[in-house]
Amino acid sequence: MRILVTGGAGYIGSVSVEAFLAAGHDVTVLDDLSTGHRAAVAEGATLEVGTYADSRAVAQLLERRQIDAVLHCAAKSLVGESMVDPAKYFRENVGGGIGLLEGMRLAGVKRIVLSSTAATYGMPERTPILETDPVRPINAYGESKRCVEAAITWYGHGYGFRSVILRYFNAAGASRLFGEQHAPETHLIPAVLIAAEESREMTIYGDDYPTADGTCVRDYIHVEDLAAAHLLALVATDAGDPRTGPTSGPCQPVICNLGNGNGFSNREIVAAAETIVGHAIPVKIGPRRAGDPAVLVASAERAGRELGWHPRQGNLENVIGSAWEWRRNHPSGYAD
Ligand code: UDP
Repeated sequence: MRILVTGGAGYIGSVSVEAFLAAGHDVTVLDDLSTGHRAAVAEGATLEVGTYADSRAVAQLLERRQIDAVLHCAAKSLVGESMVDPAKYFRENVGGGIGLLEGMRLAGVKRIVLSSTAATYGMPERTPILETDPVRPINAYGESKRCVEAAITWYGHGYGFRSVILRYFNAAGASRLFGEQHAPETHLIPAVLIAAEESREMTIYGDDYPTADGTCVRDYIHVEDLAAAHLLALVATDAGDPRTGPTSGPCQPVICNLGNGNGFSNREIVAAAETIVGHAIPVKIGPRRAGDPAVLVASAERAGRELGWHPRQGNLENVIGSAWEWRRNHPSGYAD
């Protein structure tokens, strides 16, 4: 396949690009490098620096590179930020997402896999969450992704776009070459590891949630398992694949959760990280962070059934251990 990966210089995108190249595919990365890193684009991929929001530029790129299918990873993705600056999320994720779809429509490329999120579910009524459960986001990030999901669904109906929508739970871990580096770092696992490196206290946002130890519970999924799911999903968008629709006419997206089905509390994550780094990590309890649901745990049964996806690196030692190893091997992070 000839694949375009938006956000391919970012955390999840970079590991996916590496996996696609290893499987023998041709990969073009479209990234504006606003949060991505040039050094995170695997050797062998073609990097185009630019925005996915510009329909004409996207159409030209798709034609020039003869792209078959798009993995749309690029997005603003911080829950906390989305609550204080929702405009950024609607402008970039929703407005930009429509720009990308329009570029695809102009170029006649109708295969897309979307990086979506468990944040679309909001405050779930039950755990583990099924794809058929209500989608009622409680933060602007989740709402913006829900809008993109809706747009893709209607592009399927109106224009025959074939799509797979993947709702990630909490992406974590690293490949040997590529890992997570954000500035500022807001995600729990890297934040805990940075606290361990710098011997300083880290803050857990709230311990008065209705969970066993009072801290939020999340389902951590290894980034290499996400990359494997992306490839299976791209294959499912093939024009002859009945999973994503008939050979002509309206198509429906396949929507799958990607998680392990196991929840770990924020305190459990700190404890597991302490074992891996070999010393105590001081923690203080701060106020709740706006927009955080108490528990997000996936049922990934449908991804197994529909895509043949089975996470292989589910245990926490592996997830946190690989992130720790990447940080130790890249003490200054990416060069740019
Ligand atoms: N969290 C925390 N301290 C931090 C970073 C995150 O207590 O320094 C908590 C956050 O409030 C949430 C969980 O860790 O309960 C996972 O947050 P993260 O930002 O990693 O992912 P999200 O679930 O928001 O996508």
